[in-house]
Amino acid sequence: MARALIIGCGGVGSVAIQKCCQNSEVFEEICIASRTRAKCDELKAKLEKTTKTKITTAKVDANQVDELVALINRVKPDIVMNLALPYQDLTIMEACLATKTHYMDTANYEPEDTAHFEYSWQWAYRNAFEKAGITALLGSGFDPGVTSVFAAYALKHHFDEIDTIDILDCNGGDHGYPFATNFNPEINIREVSARGKYWENGAWVETDPMEIKRVYDFPEVGVKDMYLMHHEEIESLALNIPGVKRIRFFMTFGQSYLTHLKCLENVGMTSIEPIEFQGQQIVPLQFLKAVLPDPASLGPRTKGKTNIGCIFTGRKDGKEKTYYIYNVCDHEESYKEVGSQAISYTTGVPAMIGAMMVVTGTWQKPGVYTMEEFDPDPFMAELPKWGLPWVECFAPKLVD
Ligand code: NDP
Repeated sequence: MARALIIGCGGVGSVAIQKCCQNSEVFEEICIASRTRAKCDELKAKLEKTTKTKITTAKVDANQVDELVALINRVKPDIVMNLALPYQDLTIMEACLATKTHYMDTANYEPEDTAHFEYSWQWAYRNAFEKAGITALLGSGFDPGVTSVFAAYALKHHFDEIDTIDILDCNGGDHGYPFATNFNPEINIREVSARGKYWENGAWVETDPMEIKRVYDFPEVGVKDMYLMHHEEIESLALNIPGVKRIRFFMTFGQSYLTHLKCLENVGMTSIEPIEFQGQQIVPLQFLKAVLPDPASLGPRTKGKTNIGCIFTGRKDGKEKTYYIYNVCDHEESYKEVGSQAISYTTGVPAMIGAMMVVTGTWQKPGVYTMEEFDPDPFMAELPKWGLPWVECFAPKLVD
């Protein structure tokens, strides 16, 4: 039925690729393209005996619009799935525009030399995508992604008005290393060392990194410390959930992770300012990434579960209500199925489902959209089929 060009073959990409291959009825053909073609070829060799999906591979530098346009013209995909890094969002969107091809990604654009992310750069493409008659689906991972769909679903089925949204991202997994990150270390450390930010009464409130801490007893995981962070879906949900008064995002971190991070920050290892080292310029954070464990290698070592979801407060039929929607994903089960830990799994599955929504026409609308702007029901119906069942229940609200 559809042909997808998948750019990036790392932790998230390899799960999404395997999920497309499980869904051959929709994804009849995929081309896996990345900077390191050997990784694409290796995955192709592993998968082609197990799937009806026809797989090809290519090498591409996704920072180069010309290379991308040439590849898209050769492959002629129905959609480009951007599973590379946030730095490549704009070049890939440019190439999609030039070739009138649908686009999706899992993380919003971030310039490589500034640790700052926001939607404005990608929202600037709204008119151009609309005129070209193509859809850009932004942030089709778990958070952003599934959490945004949970918000649209809560509003459609459970609330007349939503007052507050607390997004809770808990990784209860243990990989046995004193310090490692669960997805691309450079992107992860840029995100967690940034200042915190949340949305309240129509304005942003800024905090120091890790300044606000809460303790939460996560179903199937247990009691964890979690810290308020800025996260991209706050920005789009603040626009798209009418009347919402406060949106916060919390992520759990263990004490060992925080102690290591503080120490690395204090010695300058998380800096993105280039320095001179033995006659060449290096970026300390990129050097740190090179010495940290590759997130892909955590798969066989990680035990435990993730629990990611949202607590909503508001009113239905004049009554105050608090409602919780979440997914629990088991690291070892994920590894057994696709050879990756649950962080890549919980991102790769919605990436495939988002692309499926677009290529089947279920979520096709010319322009640039985030996930909560579409009907949540068809997406929610697919989640359990592809390994991410959700739970919804009444729950106590989180402490203010
Ligand atoms: P990885 O580093 O594991 O993979 C990135 C892939 O992109 C690699 O295959 C890499 O190639 C490729 N790549 C990087 N630069 C280029 C380039 N210039 N041209 C072509 N290919 C390139 O990252 P993850 O899989 O962990 O993360 C992928 C994305 O998912 C990120 O944007 C991340 O922010 C996002 N994410 C979103 C989440 C969500 O819930 N929404 C959660 C987790 C991640 P090479 O192999 O050569 O390095």
